[in-house]
Amino acid sequence: MVNKTHTAVIAAHADGRVLSETWDLVAFALQLNGGRPENIEILVLGDNIDRLAEEIAGKSGIDVRAIFCTGLTGYSSEVYLSVLARELEKQADLAYVCAPHNSQGMDYAPALAARFGAACISGVNGIFLEEGTFFFQKDIYGGKIKANMVSHTATTVLTIQSGVFKLDPERQASPGGVVRTDARFAIDRTRFLGVRKGGGDCAGIAEARVVVAAGRGIGELENMEIIHRLAELFPKSAVAGTRIVCDQGWLPYNRQVGVTGMTVAPDLYVACGISGASQHVMGMRGAGFVVAINTDRQAAMFNEADICIVEDITTFIPLLLEIYQQQYNDNAVPQAPGNDTSGG
Ligand SMILES: Cc1cc2nc3c(=O)[nH]c(=O)nc-3n(C[C@H](O)[C@H](O)[C@H](O)COP(=O)(O)OP(=O)(O)OC[C@H]3O[C@@H](n4cnc5c(N)ncnc54)[C@H](O)[C@@H]3O)c2cc1C
Repeated sequence: MVNKTHTAVIAAHADGRVLSETWDLVAFALQLNGGRPENIEILVLGDNIDRLAEEIAGKSGIDVRAIFCTGLTGYSSEVYLSVLARELEKQADLAYVCAPHNSQGMDYAPALAARFGAACISGVNGIFLEEGTFFFQKDIYGGKIKANMVSHTATTVLTIQSGVFKLDPERQASPGGVVRTDARFAIDRTRFLGVRKGGGDCAGIAEARVVVAAGRGIGELENMEIIHRLAELFPKSAVAGTRIVCDQGWLPYNRQVGVTGMTVAPDLYVACGISGASQHVMGMRGAGFVVAINTDRQAAMFNEADICIVEDITTFIPLLLEIYQQQYNDNAVPQAPGNDTSGG
């Protein structure tokens, strides 16, 4: 049997831009390969990908296979699956395929694994080596437990959570080479209808220095008021929420943080009544300092937090606001300018 050593990374891009997931995948693949770029190859698929391929090879220091799918506009699961399967089959020593844990990667990775008879471990957010065996970690039970997964197949397909593995900004690497190839493809079973962007202005939470985020623990719409009032205490702040909060209609969807919402990286993230499901956490991992308030001391959100407050938000936040107001009255603290807590 061939000793499999090759790692393929599937680049993520959209609208002519390399998505940050690509750099996270590169960081992960390097970790998997002991920091060495040899035996790693990055595959970029699409139309007009010359510039993207050069950028990826330049920044990663890893060889890139640019697979031109002329006329392919946007993402197609059919094309990704058939083209990737054909390209990867050429690699006899293929050990790992690393795909982003986003809507695209989650779509094609399991199908690709099925094609190869490979194991598929999705949502990987940790890795360690023990006695020559790689253990891949992922969150289960809404993030309360970390599962250590081992693959027993020769090839393993992994989807990697974004924001966990980071490329060292100081890393010096000479650019990788770019190999260009043309792919034939047919789209028989699906039709691309287009991408509909969510309406409204979500720039507020993307640019805010402080994000106060509400989860289902807020209980009811009326309690959103204390979240807005808490946010107003900070300059350049904004209110955000979990998907549940947006599904309830307590905030518009352009305020949702997470894998299917916005990615935010404020200096301070205050998570109020949020369980810490991986789909939410993926959107706020870049936050500088995290405060979590939750009644459940086992809440997974506490694993992400610098300060953990085990309290009921509906009593704790009003108390905090009251104390602040008292101090404000005593010291006449000036009003914080530049907030965007409107939720619209
Ligand atoms: C494909 C997919 C994509 C998804 N995308 C996203 C996404 O982009 N963003 C996202 O947020 N979610 C997303 N989800 C949903 C995600 O899995 C979770 O269901 C969601 O994040 C949970 O929201 P929550 O923390 O508000 O609610 P819950 O998980 O119900 O947690 C509520 C928390 O509040 C605490 N609590 C209750 N009462 C109080 C109180 N009075 N005071 C303090 N704490 C209290 C509880 O202990 C609990 O921890 C996605 C799911 C899937 C399957």
